[in-house]
Amino acid sequence: MALALRTAAGLRATTGVTAGSMSIAARRFYATEEYDLAVIGGGPGGYVGAIKAAQLGLKTVCIEKRGKLGGTCLNVGCIPSKSLLNNSHLYHQAQHDFAQRGISVDKVELDLDTMMGAKEKAVEQLTGGIEYLFKKNGVEYVKGAAKLTGANDIDCDLIEGGSQTIKAKNIMIAAGSEVAPFPGGAVQIDEESIVSSTGALSLKSVPKRMVVIGAGVIGLELGSVWSRLGSEVTAVEFLPFIGGAGIDLDVAKNFQRILKKQGLNFKLNTKVTSVDKQSDGTLKVNIEDAKKGKTDTIEADVVLVCVGRRPNVDALGLDKVGIKLDSRGRIEVDDHFRTNVSNIYAIGDCIKGPMLAHKAEDEGIICVEGMLGGHPHIDYNCVPSVIYTHPEVAWVGQNEQQLKEAGIEYNVGTFPMSANSRAKCNDDTDGLMKVLSDKKTDRILGVFMINKTAGEMINEAALAMEYGASAEDVARVCHAHPTEAEAFREAALAAYCGKSINF
Ligand SMILES: Cc1cc2nc3c(=O)[nH]c(=O)nc-3n(C[C@H](O)[C@H](O)[C@H](O)COP(=O)(O)OP(=O)(O)OC[C@H]3O[C@@H](n4cnc5c(N)ncnc54)[C@H](O)[C@@H]3O)c2cc1C
Repeated sequence: MALALRTAAGLRATTGVTAGSMSIAARRFYATEEYDLAVIGGGPGGYVGAIKAAQLGLKTVCIEKRGKLGGTCLNVGCIPSKSLLNNSHLYHQAQHDFAQRGISVDKVELDLDTMMGAKEKAVEQLTGGIEYLFKKNGVEYVKGAAKLTGANDIDCDLIEGGSQTIKAKNIMIAAGSEVAPFPGGAVQIDEESIVSSTGALSLKSVPKRMVVIGAGVIGLELGSVWSRLGSEVTAVEFLPFIGGAGIDLDVAKNFQRILKKQGLNFKLNTKVTSVDKQSDGTLKVNIEDAKKGKTDTIEADVVLVCVGRRPNVDALGLDKVGIKLDSRGRIEVDDHFRTNVSNIYAIGDCIKGPMLAHKAEDEGIICVEGMLGGHPHIDYNCVPSVIYTHPEVAWVGQNEQQLKEAGIEYNVGTFPMSANSRAKCNDDTDGLMKVLSDKKTDRILGVFMINKTAGEMINEAALAMEYGASAEDVARVCHAHPTEAEAFREAALAAYCGKSINF
């Protein structure tokens, strides 16, 4: 595709407008000026793609309706949840763990307002940081809701009032996802006592009892936060295991045991049928055993609904240009992220694939590179998943169940964190490492881990898999001592020669 390449400096020279600080007059000017690329949505997919496009010389505009950049991830997802996870862990540790480490603290008290303030500060700093990056890279930023009116035309309903039309040679839809409602409407989210993940990030007080519907990644992270802060948390899960899609069943079992030890309760193979609100505010959560049909009730003060997210596609005017959706309501794209309208692309949570910020970012970048004639490719098998509890759980590649189903013969190497010297020093030994490698070639097929720094360490495994490393390759790489990463090396050693050294 032939796209006009312009430098950001060139753009400023033609328009006389400093990128990112448009006046109303400049906006009128842009209504007639054509962009090379208009990005709808300023989440991790959209903002990263917009920056890359501008860096590659495309005259780029990003339209975001939230009033803040960063999307779900920065505003009501990854970032606020990780701030609360970190600080609730410190609180819990100060209460239950410091004494045995020789640290006596007189009185540990929770100041929830300050903890929420720290979360908001992190969000503010990071969302503001993207505005700075837009200015630095020459991406124009329009605050408003975008609607397609033609293959090259977008109508923006501006937050500050009025509207603006944008013309672009190419359009990248990065509209993300929103909380999925409870199926059938039997549980209505009010964001006060029946909350979604968004409400659970901003509760005003610690509920005495919380029921989490859905023991997937988000449910377990937010359930952990409130459990550490003092709630009695019960997670109800329809599936027979926790941790969501892709987790290895051994790892899921181990993880559940660790969370149970921390005080979380689980009801697996169980579905919530409805929630009744009592006059005193108590919630009666009606549940049913998924196999035997036996019914029961759990009382709660707050119910957190974590049954998934759905693509945010309704208000985009897709029907106006005839953009096709797949059977699950996501925008259908080809290998180049192109929709059935050849100059309109889509990436991130609103298309197929795992709903993860780093997947959206990667797609944003390679979608833009593809527009300029590059050959976009993502190996989705190498996209890591992380649950940021304590310990963290992380994985990349295929699990044992998937390998069995695919008829692939494999070796298994495991190593317990209780035999890792760094974990021992830290007295933080819950967890394990598991490496699955091809029986014939020794190539690593999957890595699963539970430990304090799994969210960091999984990137080493992803790198190894991207480069097609064998278990022996990893086992022969010198790893610094003492580190938790040595457990990965040991598990790789066990996978390729059957024996680790330290266990
Ligand atoms: C509680 C929680 C925790 C999470 N934790 C993690 C984590 O730790 N790691 C991880 O990888 N992922 C995490 N996720 C998932 C992650 O947030 C998403 O996968 C990621 O944000 C998707 O990026 P995106 O750019 O596709 O969409 P989004 O981040 O949803 O951004 C889309 C943006 O488009 C805007 N938009 C939509 N329609 C329009 C329109 N018509 N006009 C203008 N703007 C529009 C929206 O306002 C939104 O800001 C978490 C999610 C939640 C809810």
